[in-house]
Amino acid sequence: MKAKLSCSLLAAIFLWGCEDTNNKPTPNPNTSVSQPSLSIPAFDAENAYKLVEKQVSFGPRVPKTPAHEACLQWLKTELETAGAQVEIQQGIMESHLDPRMPIKNIIAKINPTATKRVLLCAHWDTRYIADQEKDAKLSKEPILGADDGGSGVAVLLEIAHTIKKMPINNLGVDIVLFDVEDQGEPQGGLDFKKIQTWCLGSQYWAKNKGNYTANFGILLDMVGSAGATFPKEGVSMRYAGVFVQKIWAEATNLGYSDMFVQGETKEIIDDHVFVNQFANIPTLDIINLPVGNPNLTFGPHWHTQNDNMKVIDKNTLKAVGQVLLNVLYKEAAGTF
Ligand SMILES: [Zn+2]
Repeated sequence: MKAKLSCSLLAAIFLWGCEDTNNKPTPNPNTSVSQPSLSIPAFDAENAYKLVEKQVSFGPRVPKTPAHEACLQWLKTELETAGAQVEIQQGIMESHLDPRMPIKNIIAKINPTATKRVLLCAHWDTRYIADQEKDAKLSKEPILGADDGGSGVAVLLEIAHTIKKMPINNLGVDIVLFDVEDQGEPQGGLDFKKIQTWCLGSQYWAKNKGNYTANFGILLDMVGSAGATFPKEGVSMRYAGVFVQKIWAEATNLGYSDMFVQGETKEIIDDHVFVNQFANIPTLDIINLPVGNPNLTFGPHWHTQNDNMKVIDKNTLKAVGQVLLNVLYKEAAGTF
């Protein structure tokens, strides 16, 4: 993604659906994990790195291309191998690129019958142009999206593999990989019609999710680059502030306060906006927003040809993956 929005504009556009986000589940007395001895697996950043590499090896994952289709099939198999129940949700959305843009969201359910659920999401498509490139020729080429797309997906795949090795009791985990997030109209700014050309997969999912719900949701976007910082983003604070505070506290306890920084930022248009607005699931965004540099909205490689494996850092993948594992296993044990 995307664009920064003023708070007032967003308030005018998005109506806040009220959710009781403080409704903590009662710990299940049958749980085999007692609180003092709760063991949480280590996140394997080496493997997560390889999972970014694998996605990049397909080339840009632009909708309606063979690389996109090949990656889709690989992602489905990867999640099935990790023991998830996988469905490809297909739909059509109107886009500035195609009045009938096909959507292929990947929905992977772990512990599908558990009533207490957490939603984890990322986008798996990559941008069709590098519109932040200064070079006119390069700007027309699609990007590899190692970070923008690839990193969030890799962390979620590795979480699925980890849960298979160390099953998580009493918690359903739903990994939803959104399609057509990053095919929006350039320079959307504050034009609502242009804003709506972004995040088409999440818009479709959130309007067609049936009676699905989750206690909360976490979106990952650009979570793999060296030197990333994840401030508390405005839409996340507005809709899911209680979870932001708990997750950032967990990150601090793990020693990642240099990445999960305390500052708050303006509101960002990303998939979580539509999950919050249309699906009423309090959902926050872990997204690299450089702090202390007013000239940069996102990382310097954002929507350029530099979004390749050279920017990916295992330490960043490790921090994000470990924080998520801690949150999930604690939520399962009723201690989050
Ligand atoms: Zn993007």
